Amino acid sequence: MPAPRPQPRFPEPDTQPFWEATKEHRLTYQTCRTCSKVVFYPRRHCPHCGGRDLEWHDSKGFGTVYTYSVVRLNRHPAFADLGPYAVAYVDLDEGFRMLTNIVGVADPVKDVRIGMRVKVRWDDQESGISLPMFEPA
Ligand SMILES: [Zn+2]
Repeated sequence: MPAPRPQPRFPEPDTQPFWEATKEHRLTYQTCRTCSKVVFYPRRHCPHCGGRDLEWHDSKGFGTVYTYSVVRLNRHPAFADLGPYAVAYVDLDEGFRMLTNIVGVADPVKDVRIGMRVKVRWDDQESGISLPMFEPA
């Protein structure tokens, strides 16, 4: 049994609502009611205008690989047994970009492409939260 992945520690005022939503497999993001821009990662204020009036939304969980890299060896106990795995920036259709993993491919070296369509796949953790990862759509 591999060691658990590093987890957020609570209370965490900026991102706690995001992590609570992952328990229901909802991928959430924010928009600013003042300047209308999309905000991600979750925060209590808008990084574009400084406004504090943010609204939560559920993403449909579909996006496109912006870029990626393949980690061939990670000595951290939580990752040591994974073998090669893909770390990627995914552009969600709602207009935000997130750092994540691409899973559900036979060979991450050959089977991940910039521009490929992906959809969210949840990786439930023993702590109760779930990690949003992505697989080919
Ligand atoms: Zn704003």
